[in-house]
Amino acid sequence: MLTDATHDPALKSWVTSANDGATDFPVQNLPYGRFRRAGTDEPWRIGVAIGDQVLDLKLAREQCPWGEPAHALLAPLADGDLTGFMQLGREAWRSLRAALSAALAEGSEQAPFLELCLLPQAQAEMTLPCRIGDYTDFYTGIHHAVTIGKLFRPDAPLLPNYQWVPIGYHGRASSIGLGGPIKRPNGQTKAPAAEAPSFGPCRKLDYELEVGAFVGRANAQGEPVPIDEAEDALFGLCLLNDWSARDIQAWEYQPLGPFLSKSFASSISPWIVTMDALAPYRRPFTRPAGDPQPLPYLDGAFNREAGAIEMTLEVWLQTAAMRAAGAPAVRLSQSNLTDAYWTWAQMLTHHSSNGCNLQPGDLLGSGTLSGARPGTYASLMELSSNGTQPLALPGGEQRTFLQDGDTATLRAHCQHPGAARIGLGEVSGTIIG
Ligand code: MN
Repeated sequence: MLTDATHDPALKSWVTSANDGATDFPVQNLPYGRFRRAGTDEPWRIGVAIGDQVLDLKLAREQCPWGEPAHALLAPLADGDLTGFMQLGREAWRSLRAALSAALAEGSEQAPFLELCLLPQAQAEMTLPCRIGDYTDFYTGIHHAVTIGKLFRPDAPLLPNYQWVPIGYHGRASSIGLGGPIKRPNGQTKAPAAEAPSFGPCRKLDYELEVGAFVGRANAQGEPVPIDEAEDALFGLCLLNDWSARDIQAWEYQPLGPFLSKSFASSISPWIVTMDALAPYRRPFTRPAGDPQPLPYLDGAFNREAGAIEMTLEVWLQTAAMRAAGAPAVRLSQSNLTDAYWTWAQMLTHHSSNGCNLQPGDLLGSGTLSGARPGTYASLMELSSNGTQPLALPGGEQRTFLQDGDTATLRAHCQHPGAARIGLGEVSGTIIG
């Protein structure tokens, strides 16, 4: 997975908004999403984000001359079928990326045709990029695991399996959306001092900053994906907010893990940034001195050299009062995807290691990606020490957990000397009562 001409930081696009250095979607990115013109009931179409525009791939295939194999590779995308394109595999993904990069680059002879296939993102309504068949949430944020563990088990915050097994649980795919209004869930909770549980609105509603990975290539049931092939099964990344009802979770989670405390809503960002676009930001997978090395089935040459990804992750909060006063959102945390204890390849390989079949469009969540210091804590559970230490906000407000009217926004970008700055865009959700 080496970098190529599509990653050249000097590359510019004839779509001028892609060249401003601040956009998440320069020509080096080229993420896929599903959209239609806002205010219409037209069929959903697959598009590629470029600057502040969307390139409509249905129109682009019809209106613009393409060589082969690009013309053939665009066929499932023109049909609005992103998983159909995923199934074609990494060689196809890279080939179309090269063709799109050339077509959108400054000086392209295809520009006069493709200019007619652009829609401003401000005029596009987005939906989930594809049907998400299954959703699995991992727990790779070791600092999150330690900080949370300390709240409940000060003597032994990290459970003994953590450094050996990529911990995860099966989540709920049907309630994944793109954010927007998030209805405060009801559930069963029990205060420690209460004699019996009660049923009512969640009082400890939280966000979790995570990254999501879309599986691109299927494996047959009974045929695990070896770690050296895992990268070829990973299509791309998005942001994931794993909304969590901490009070419901605390009462229900033993012995089988989270259930209704997580399944009411999860939100992802609309654009899938391909693993190919992320090539310049790959980093070695390392373990702190003294930690056990992964078992052989989770260890591979590429994974050691470049299994990790450097990506800055942020959470922003704007309360209803801040919005009413015209005050901007405030950043609550900044952390990095390199805080993950396991790589995407290790998660995918472990997931399939028992013979479980993964499918194109399945979503894997990283788990909450916190760093070790308070400014890097990626949930309110950590920032407020489970509600015991309120967070001071600009304007005099305080927060332990989310109130109605609060908007939580996740953002992510990759930046490295010698590479362009690319971003994942954002995902935003507002709590309603
Ligand atoms: Mn989670």
